[in-house]
Amino acid sequence: MITHPTSRIFISRDALKANYFALKNMVAPTVAVASVIKANGYGLGVEVVVNVFEQQGCEDFFVASLEEGVTLRAHTQKNIYILNGFHGAQKELFQHYRLIPILSHLKQIEEWGHEGECVWHIDTGMNRLGLRFEELDSALDLKTIPPVYILSHLSSSEEKDSPANQNQLHFFQACKEKLRPHFPNAKYTLSNSSGIYRGEDFHFDMVRPGYALYGGNPCPGEPNPLRNVVTVEARINQIHQGFKGEPVGYNQTHILKRDTLLAVVDYGYADGLLRTASNRGQFIVAGHACPIVGRVSMDLTVIDITDCPTPPQVGDYAALINDEQTIDDVAVMCQTNGWHILTTLSRRAQYVII
Ligand SMILES: *Cc1c(COP(=O)(O)O)cnc(C)c1O
Repeated sequence: MITHPTSRIFISRDALKANYFALKNMVAPTVAVASVIKANGYGLGVEVVVNVFEQQGCEDFFVASLEEGVTLRAHTQKNIYILNGFHGAQKELFQHYRLIPILSHLKQIEEWGHEGECVWHIDTGMNRLGLRFEELDSALDLKTIPPVYILSHLSSSEEKDSPANQNQLHFFQACKEKLRPHFPNAKYTLSNSSGIYRGEDFHFDMVRPGYALYGGNPCPGEPNPLRNVVTVEARINQIHQGFKGEPVGYNQTHILKRDTLLAVVDYGYADGLLRTASNRGQFIVAGHACPIVGRVSMDLTVIDITDCPTPPQVGDYAALINDEQTIDDVAVMCQTNGWHILTTLSRRAQYVII
């Protein structure tokens, strides 16, 4: 382990545990709480997160692709569901690794045939993956193996008042009515993180949180009911005095309005700090917010530390994400969402599990 790394990302096992437990407490004891750990556990490292959630009693894990499923199989013997379905030529791999495909169109259902456990995905309002309601009869006519779960996905669950939530709920309930006589043992799952907070009707037999487990706020505009999991820090490489009227960074997009003490931080867009944070984001230095001045570069970002009550030293760390500046805050300053921020965090930072 390199001492004094250029950048470091702390992942709190306690916070991951607390978040799984908090979501478990949101649903009835009969409702399974799966963990969505696609994209390498939302960027945090799939080995760590699968281990923590399995210890908390999680039986069901969702990843996006066959490749992610194969990687994950080395770390757990629990159920692994593949959200993006399967391709006919890969059937043997699905069987070999005991991966459960989520089938989202007729051809997939037909090709899977009687191979083993599968899930049917029904589209209730995304126009992305999933069978359409009108296709259910054709799907039933295929007389393939009954699915263990029927799944659908909410388009707007984090928008508390969006009519899409109730519309999709009613649509999914209608699908359940239609399929129940054919598949008496099938279970149902609709909600991601924010869907859990839309009420008990949305819970069905299993909920599928991802973002909230990692500390993202499932209830935008309200206090986050979950704990921050991730701290991202980068080293201060250089500190120098800049003078009023001088430009900063590529294309000179910032002109100093006053004499300014500048710190150059070893963190840039190649580390996941999006360029949209140029001239609008901030780092936290010893509890104090320090604005980003000029463009975010590939490996470096310049911040204004003039107003820090205790000025930092070269070699100190500036935080991008911590308990004070959350994933959701960083998403706002980068003009994107927190899922994007998490999944593009630095691949070259030192990961420290605490
Ligand atoms: C990614 C994903 C989830 C998890 O969503 P979060 O908003 O991160 O909780 C659940 N279900 C499906 C189908 C997904 O693709």
